Formats: sequence, C-alpha cells, structure tokens
Amino acid sequence: QLKISDKADKINPSLTLAIDSKLKQMISEGIKVYGFGAGEPDFDTPEYIRKAAIEAINTGFTRYTAAQGTLDLRKAICSKLERENRIKYNPNEIVVSSGAKHSLSNAFAAILNPGDEVVVPVPYWVSYTEIIKLNGGTPVLVNTKAENGFKMTKEELEGAITDKTKAVLLNTPNNPTGSVYGREDLRALAETALKNNIYIVSDEIYERLTYDNTEHISIASFSEDIRNITILINGMSKAYAMTGWRLGYAASNERVIKAMSSIQSHAVSHPCSITQYASTAALNGPQDEVKTMALEFEKRRDYMYQKINSIRYLNCQKPQGAFYVYVNISELMNRELSGVKINSSIDLALVLLEKANVAVIPGAAFGTDSYIRLSYATSMDTIVKGLDILEDFLDKNL
Ligand code: PLP
Repeated sequence: QLKISDKADKINPSLTLAIDSKLKQMISEGIKVYGFGAGEPDFDTPEYIRKAAIEAINTGFTRYTAAQGTLDLRKAICSKLERENRIKYNPNEIVVSSGAKHSLSNAFAAILNPGDEVVVPVPYWVSYTEIIKLNGGTPVLVNTKAENGFKMTKEELEGAITDKTKAVLLNTPNNPTGSVYGREDLRALAETALKNNIYIVSDEIYERLTYDNTEHISIASFSEDIRNITILINGMSKAYAMTGWRLGYAASNERVIKAMSSIQSHAVSHPCSITQYASTAALNGPQDEVKTMALEFEKRRDYMYQKINSIRYLNCQKPQGAFYVYVNISELMNRELSGVKINSSIDLALVLLEKANVAVIPGAAFGTDSYIRLSYATSMDTIVKGLDILEDFLDKNL
C-alpha cells in the first residue's frame, strides 16, 4: 500500500475527536447538551461588516486580489496597528491570509528549516505543535507554572534555547489559560529573544478581549530591533465575531512578509475578496460593538470564575483575557465518578458529556492533563444552567 508522507504521519489526530463525535451523536439524537467547548464568539458579525460584504458582492468586488491582500485592507491594518498597538508598519510589511491559523502556518513555512526548534510554552493552543511539525520544525515544550499565571519566564525561555532554536511562540491573551502577559514579562522575553537571535511569533488574536482594564501589550512595540524579529499575528475571528469569514494577518519585516506572500500565492492565492472588503470596513468602522461584546464576555467570566471556585473539587484562576476558564481538576484524579475511574482529563470530559450532558475540552489537548477548559463564549443562560448541572453531578456521583 502506498504510504503518506512522514510529515503527515506525524500529525496527531485531534485528542478531542472521541468527545466531538460523541457530542455530535448526542445532539443528533435531540439530547440537550450544555456546551462549554466553543472556541468562537456566539455573537453575530456586526451589521456594518455584513453590509460591506453585500456591497462587495453587488459592486463586483469578486475577482482575484493581490496575493498579499488588497492595499486598502493592508492600509487599514497599518492604521490599526499604529492606533492600538503603537507600532508603525507600512503595507509592504503586512500579509493577509485565510485566518490567523493560516497566517501562523505561512509564518512557520517562511522561517523554518528541517530540524529547527520552536519554543512553545505549555499549556499551548492545540494547533501550534502540529503547524510547526508540518513545516519541518520541532516544537520544544516549556512547562509554565500555575503560580506564575501560566506565563513563561525569561529563565524558562533561556533554559529551552539551543543552537537549533529558530523562534519562540507567544500567545497573549492566552488560549486556554486566559493569562495576559504584562509589559515587564514581555520585555524580558523580548530581550532574551533578541540576545539569542531568534524570531518571536506573537499570536495576539484575543487582544480585544481583556478584562479588569488589563492592557494588551504588543511585544513588537518595544523597539525597532524587537519589531524586526517579531512576526505579529492577529485576525478578525475573535474580536469581530467573524470566525467563518477567515481573515488573519501578519506584520513583520519585509523579507519575512514577502516570503509568506509567495508561499501563500502558490497555495491559495489570497483570502476571499469579499472577506477582505468586509474586514477593511470592520477595521476602519466604529469599534463600539467590539467593546460591547468584550463587556458581555467579562460579565460571563465573572460569573463562571466565582461559580467554578464555589464547586467542591474544582478551582481556577481569574482569566484576564480571551474567553476561557482553565479549571484545575487534580482533586478529581484517581477518584470514581459515576462508577468511572478518572485517570485523565479525557476520562473526565467523557463522563461529563455522557452522564451530565456537559461538554468541556480536556486539558490534555493543551499539554496539561490535570485541567479542563470551559469556554464562556456561550449564553449566560447556558453558563448558569450548565454549571449548576455540573455542580449537582459532582455532588451526587463522587
Ligand atoms: N490562535 C489562537 C490562540 C486561537 O485560539 C485561534 C482559534 O481558535 C486561532 C489562533 C485561529 O484563529 P483564526 O480563526 O483566525 O484562524
């Protein structure tokens, strides 16, 4: 039998596959499931953005664009990065892609040679390690400490750097922990990267979702030197409730951006013209709805945070950003729950789904097995009822 490539062979099937298929089966059977798995806002895309897309269709903005993305959109991104992140880029230093995930993939394709290492703090978003491997790299996992708010320290980064290290991957605000790196945390990491001559790939997709007046800091804003080794990744999905539109972007020095654009030009040419037009309107238009959505997320976070910590056996830190609560489940490990021995976060997620109709993501998917991730990108009603059911289930079945 003909083989697939070694590269493809090394890609891990999604750890959540078993849970996903069970969930889909339950939903198709008409069972009401309280879902905390969502990785996307439950809001509709704001109307002014939808209207712009319709205008694009009706005015014939439906043809190929430049591979790098339209100049209008790249200019809108430059204005945004200067206005909100205090970094100056010119449109030649921007490439737009089909989602931030695609931007990440292009970035690693552009900078990695086979065997190059990329430092990835744990817990990490599930796609990072696989994107790095697909592009010939080796992820080097660095465990962070809960007592440091799951933020990688300068010493931890230094300890992971070898002569093969090509980049470090940072994600702030963080999925799954909700941590937000502070200015001094980032400055120390940036200096370490600069000293060791490695790229910083900075995934800032959740930047508009921070709470308690926590400020999002872009690492590239510190200095010209740091800006030049950073590939800033962002996109429309989370801030503008545009997950299905597929628009991400990268900002970096012109050499990296040119390479990313060439790679993209031979794969998908460019992201959808209509999406690009709508994204230009989104970035240049009023930002009130982004703020309204963030305020609603904050209310839900407040509720979820206090409720989780009031449930026996569970505890979590207060997330400062994104829309996830990372729940420590150590106290449930090795115990029997509803007749099932809990040996892993996957065991727990399966029991919760099958016996309590509550869907969560096991921490194993993010490299930390003694946690589960709950998303609050779902209605307050679902959050209140779902957590009551979870509490009741644990009370009665342990
Ligand atoms: N980065 C992180 C940390 C994410 O959680 C996600 C989506 O879940 C993405 C990137 C990808 O977003 P996009 O929809 O723009 O591809």
